[in-house]
Amino acid sequence: MPETFDVLVVGAGPTGLTLAHLLAQADVKVLLIEQNASTVGEPRAVSIDDESMRVLQAAGLADAALADIAPAYGSEYLGPDGARFAIVSPSQGEFGWPKRSAFRQPLLERTLADALKNNRNAALRFGTRCVDHRDLGDRVIAILDRDGERSEVECAFLVGADGGRSRTRKAIGAELTGSSFEEKWLIADIVDTRDPYRETQVFSDPRRPAITLPGPHRTRRFEIRLWPGETEEQVTAEPRARDLIARYGGDADAEIERLRVYTFQARIADRWRNGRVFLAGDAAHLTPPFAGQGMNAGLRDAANLAWKLAAVLKGRLGSGLLDSYQTERKDHAWIMIRFAIRMGYLVSPGNRFVAAITRSALRASRLIPPLRDWLVQMRFKPKPRFAKGFFVTAGDLSARLCGRMFPQPMVERGQSTLRLDDVLGPGFAFLCYGRDPGLLAAGFGGVADRLGASVTGCLPRNFAFPASPFEPLIRDSTGAIGRFMGDRDAAVILLRPDRYVAAAFEESELPQAGDVMSRLIETVRERVAP
Ligand SMILES: Cc1cc2nc3c(=O)[nH]c(=O)nc-3n(C[C@H](O)[C@H](O)[C@H](O)COP(=O)(O)OP(=O)(O)OC[C@H]3O[C@@H](n4cnc5c(N)ncnc54)[C@H](O)[C@@H]3O)c2cc1C
Repeated sequence: MPETFDVLVVGAGPTGLTLAHLLAQADVKVLLIEQNASTVGEPRAVSIDDESMRVLQAAGLADAALADIAPAYGSEYLGPDGARFAIVSPSQGEFGWPKRSAFRQPLLERTLADALKNNRNAALRFGTRCVDHRDLGDRVIAILDRDGERSEVECAFLVGADGGRSRTRKAIGAELTGSSFEEKWLIADIVDTRDPYRETQVFSDPRRPAITLPGPHRTRRFEIRLWPGETEEQVTAEPRARDLIARYGGDADAEIERLRVYTFQARIADRWRNGRVFLAGDAAHLTPPFAGQGMNAGLRDAANLAWKLAAVLKGRLGSGLLDSYQTERKDHAWIMIRFAIRMGYLVSPGNRFVAAITRSALRASRLIPPLRDWLVQMRFKPKPRFAKGFFVTAGDLSARLCGRMFPQPMVERGQSTLRLDDVLGPGFAFLCYGRDPGLLAAGFGGVADRLGASVTGCLPRNFAFPASPFEPLIRDSTGAIGRFMGDRDAAVILLRPDRYVAAAFEESELPQAGDVMSRLIETVRERVAP
């Protein structure tokens, strides 16, 4: 008899590790396998965003990850003459974490893998490769290879988080499509940097575009573009690599930890699912790292897919819900890839004339406050928002909010100030916003039970805690929740486990709220044919 799990996750990169944590937290039995003997040691992602930190927070991993994170850093863009023409320096992001923090992928992966070892719902096996799978319609059989020994595992769902060369992607007949963008870059990680500068520096010089990124624990990353004709052997030879590094700061003699050449691509899989088999992370999309979004996109996939698989496995929602994974994530992932390509033009301008005009325009934008803010606060980054998916847009408020990620401000609860998600807990959550949350909470009890949702009251910022409060009750002390809702006096919001808005009702719409949400649940009732 094969071993049986709810979900088999193939690949213990950041996507697979995060997905395994989120599934295990939702009481799903998960097996995570990795063909290598350990987590990655290669120089890969160095920038983690606020949305990913929120995902790690949801998985209970943010504190452990923070040990190897240098929080909140910006970037400056320098022209060929060395003059600065743009600064990006975002303050705290709306999702509860800094918009950009520096980290090292090998350290994060090790932290996530170590934390999984003590998890009673998860098993992590290194040195184990998935060589084949068969989708039988009601379950999947996967063939695993460990040191030449074959075994079978049975699971309800298989997720291929097996990276850019994904076996799973080929096996489900998905093709990578997209842009012809392809560039080679030398990646050098050094330790004990001599350069005290704390921001990312982008050397936007058509002669030799390069980026230096400071990291945690006095590390520094150099990313330096290769020209056609330059080979990996040439630029990774130490004297040549040191010569290149020396051009961008005072680290010519520093200890080099890793040297690699990567070819960056911009591609997306045309399908992310076949029956019971899904793709996530680099298996589904490949992006150049100029916007620092490859891993971040993979963590978004994990956050989107985990609660859907859990809800279907636990019988809370119908399996039609699983169709919304590709519907929601694919378009957004492509938007982020296009964003990265645009950022790439800024880093690595092809045309000197266009580059000079761009630099002048960005310099001039400093004189116009809204434009300056747009740049400095990183408002140019596409928002986490879905056009279609598992949410309803029934009235004005829901049209404005549904399909968007809810902000995560600090909120007051009694004498404490906490991040919103830490109050709401995992799973679906109703937020009853208004001076009398008890009244608002009366109308949708059946749906809350069905979804296993928590119900939290939220006072607007200009109301004090009453004597006999609704429990749990928080206060929107920063006003961020009120602003997000267009300064309504009262509303009820249904948040999904990934903290996107599924439904939103003004007070006057509450009598219909139960029906509207039941209809949403009905839309995913049918079992989707594999
Ligand atoms: C130079 C560089 C800089 C980057 N900078 C950033 C950045 O700043 N921010 C950011 O967000 N992203 C960045 N990225 C991208 C980021 O590193 C990737 O997007 C991320 O690693 C993808 O994670 P993943 O888990 O989807 O895939 P991977 O990390 O590729 O993990 C897939 C895993 O699956 C395993 N595997 C494959 N096949 C099998 C099989 N058949 N059986 C078992 N195991 C298998 C592999 O061994 C691998 O460990 C950067 C990438 C590079 C190269």
